[in-house]
Amino acid sequence: MGKKSRRSNRKGHSMGQGKNRPVILDRLLKLDEEVRESKENMLWSKAAHKIRECIEIVQEIQDRILKSTGTIEIYILEQKAVCCMDLIRVEYNRYRFDNVLQICNDIQMSPENEKNVLSLDFLSKLYGQLALLRLDVSKENKDKIVSFIDTRISERINDTYVVTTALEAVRILRSLKEYDAAIALGEKLERLTENCERVTSDNSIADVVTFVNAVTHLERYRIEYHQQVHKDFSKYFLVLVQELFDKFDDISGKNVICQRDAYFMMIAQREYLCHQIDDKQLSSQLCSNAIEYVETYLERAWHHERHCFTCHEKRTTTEALVCSGCRVACYCSLDHQRMTWKKDAIQGMRIGHEILCPLWKAFRKWKLVSKKGNERAMKLRNRLDRECLYFLSHGLGLKGKCFEEKNVHTFYQSVAE
Ligand SMILES: [Zn+2]
Ligand SMILES: [Zn+2]
Repeated sequence: MGKKSRRSNRKGHSMGQGKNRPVILDRLLKLDEEVRESKENMLWSKAAHKIRECIEIVQEIQDRILKSTGTIEIYILEQKAVCCMDLIRVEYNRYRFDNVLQICNDIQMSPENEKNVLSLDFLSKLYGQLALLRLDVSKENKDKIVSFIDTRISERINDTYVVTTALEAVRILRSLKEYDAAIALGEKLERLTENCERVTSDNSIADVVTFVNAVTHLERYRIEYHQQVHKDFSKYFLVLVQELFDKFDDISGKNVICQRDAYFMMIAQREYLCHQIDDKQLSSQLCSNAIEYVETYLERAWHHERHCFTCHEKRTTTEALVCSGCRVACYCSLDHQRMTWKKDAIQGMRIGHEILCPLWKAFRKWKLVSKKGNERAMKLRNRLDRECLYFLSHGLGLKGKCFEEKNVHTFYQSVAE
């Protein structure tokens, strides 16, 4: 949305008067390009800085027009709102929730102007409430955000940006172990998006909603095992997860990397939860599948070792806080290290670096071994396998837990057919 509408606005109107016009527009276009580049390289603070410059320039243009014509141009307001929304997203992504709240307060418009930039206004308010919830998980804030999204859902407005942002509320509720609320909201979003076209080669918003709901059910199963109702589990894991498996395989690109990481971890858990069945051959196959998926997660995240493990900001200097346990995970600040120690090391999952750390250590040793065939390498390889299983059984607390045998068999039969 952002870039496109901004460009077309610029072309469609002549902005202000006087000889400075081309200079200020050139500056804006150049900044726009720099913002895009910074975001692509995951340099969040640089991107935020550049967007702030953009907003200042747009404000300057607005002031000039106001001075010469005495009117406020709607397209300038839209322009500013687009920039502010861009900034809100970047600040949210880099976990600077105070900044998000600040911008949301600053963005307040007169009711008249609000009407003209309606969807942006809703989104900025939603981000404001998400940031508030991240800073203070009071019951009041939880209820507020759910009812705020509810009003939007009841209007049946199926806007991709709104659904994507609402999913963040589901993730937060899930990480607070508010499973009833997370599932209720997730299912509403699922109903809202179920008529969306599902494209096999792409992940549509409907797929993402299904995925987020599947993770919620999985986490509830893991954490509140004895309260789990079996029909939920069979619906979400044995059928939908397999469907997702095929779809997510085709997606690439930086924007979905966190999403994909969560996906591999989810599948690993599913395989492990099936492995304690009586069929010896199937059982060992499921175990090695689980190890493979955990390793896929590690392998993918390994390529991002130069990024903060919490906000994913790319490291620009050689100095960084590196976890002394595994010597892999690095952070842009102590604050960000603490933030994902207990949970959320994988975005929106109750998996913290605390339980991933020994796994990372074993993985690094295995990765750095020079001759893969020798005895030492074999030892490290075995150790990594053991750590993977230990992570699944003890780290995630899945030891002794297993899906019902008949369901496992039915599922694998249905896949084979
Ligand atoms: Zn960070
Ligand atoms: Zn570590």
